[in-house]
Amino acid sequence: MATLTLKQLTKTYPNGYQAIKGINMAIKDGEMIVLVGPSGCGKSTLLRMLAGLETISSGDLNIDEKRVNEMEPGERDIAMVFQNYALYPHMTVFNNMAYGLKNRKVPKDMIREKVEEAAQLLELDHLLERTPRELSGGQRQRVAMGRAIVRQPKVFLFDEPLSNLDAKLRVHMRLEIRRLQRQFHTTSVYVTHDQVEAMTLADRLVVLNAGHVEQVGTPIDVYEDP
Ligand code: ADP
Ligand code: ADP
Repeated sequence: MATLTLKQLTKTYPNGYQAIKGINMAIKDGEMIVLVGPSGCGKSTLLRMLAGLETISSGDLNIDEKRVNEMEPGERDIAMVFQNYALYPHMTVFNNMAYGLKNRKVPKDMIREKVEEAAQLLELDHLLERTPRELSGGQRQRVAMGRAIVRQPKVFLFDEPLSNLDAKLRVHMRLEIRRLQRQFHTTSVYVTHDQVEAMTLADRLVVLNAGHVEQVGTPIDVYEDP
């Protein structure tokens, strides 16, 4: 759980292009924000700034009361789920899920406990010794989710996590993500271009257009306003 505060946040790329043009927003504890908008409007840029994968050109980003620019490396307690899953191909499912905990020097028996618990939640318990290439697309997506939840981060970021799945699995996983997000009450920002996904998942939708926030509201406010 955490509150994210964005104050006049901007991103100017080295070529001079301003992809994010002064965004102000407060994301509440446990809230699920879905970011939508046309291709090129700045969704992934903004998500990557929240993740710390892009620098902030100006303005402030605070997690709880703390400015991210004043945090130590590794202090930003965020887990991101990527579109292509970004799993380590030579590691087992267990080790893929354990990786972030090992880096944080969590004791071995606690790692095993947390990974097994997450594997059970995601119905991966029978697959822990496989490598990603021995899994279906849906199973890989679950491992990526598992890797995010074992750390119990303050914030989840999702970058179109379901776009490589077939339609049926997308429906299933979208409900699964909603269930897990509610269960852990983790503040989340989710990027998608799928309107149904956005409607189902969002507590609030944020519509970006050319680096600006065009609209913010519940899915009903945004999609059903005349
Ligand atoms: P979205 O995720 O909404 O499709 P992006 O955040 O990827 O949009 O991109 C926003 C804008 O910034 C686009 O016009 C894109 O071309 C531009 N952009 C993205 N990455 C870079 C970069 N590294 N250098 C310059 N411009 C970029
Ligand atoms: P999907 O139709 O969901 O993409 P796949 O056809 O890839 O699934 O796989 C079907 C089942 O076979 C899954 O349960 C998956 O775990 C298993 N499987 C796929 N590839 C391998 C493999 N190389 N070794 C063992 N099991 C595999």
